[in-house]
Amino acid sequence: MRILIVEDDKLLGDGLVRYLQQAGYVTEIATSGTEADAVLANEEYDLVILDIGLPGMDGFEVLRRLRRRQRYVPVLVLTARDTLDDRVHGLNLGADDYLVKPFALLELEARIRAVVRRGQASNGNRIVHGPLVVDTGARRAWLDDIPLRLTAREWNVLEFLILREGKMVSKDQIVSAISSSDDEISQNSVEVHISRLRAKLEPAGLKIHSIRGFGYYLDLKASTPG
Ligand code: CA
Repeated sequence: MRILIVEDDKLLGDGLVRYLQQAGYVTEIATSGTEADAVLANEEYDLVILDIGLPGMDGFEVLRRLRRRQRYVPVLVLTARDTLDDRVHGLNLGADDYLVKPFALLELEARIRAVVRRGQASNGNRIVHGPLVVDTGARRAWLDDIPLRLTAREWNVLEFLILREGKMVSKDQIVSAISSSDDEISQNSVEVHISRLRAKLEPAGLKIHSIRGFGYYLDLKASTPG
């Protein structure tokens, strides 16, 4: 899961990045409203953690502009100003939840899970196909009811593929989906993660096909062993 953190306080921003990366999320940071707005116009994220008090364009404006675009992204707002006005304003603009600073990191993680779960509630967290069950909320997968042991990056690649089931994805798309600003992934390492995933999925009849010179697709329809 890829999270954009929008926070101008360097200490807090760096702390969030460190904590969330340790928790297994792919994170990027924007330190001004203008930067966040530009990034959100061009990149896909699964969640945005948005500070309200930002230099230049404030968080409310970033949120307003984000909601004017078509694609839905859950937004968790951070505010230092614990006033009812801010909360109502943010909710009207389409924030999914709030945290008032200062907050505990464990609380933040609980809210992230809740917001993402709610966002996925319409189609459920669980993607079931043949022997493979993937829970994108809990970040776990099972093959024939046995928990699948995946590294964080293998998980990120599998999640990216399964959310685009049957569609071709390029190596570049995978690279940008699982890279963050301080953790650049190469195309070669994507190949390594894919080949490890293949080794784990193929015994159950699930194939990741290569399209020469382009990328991959996960063929869930090939899984008919039972
Ligand atoms: Ca701030």
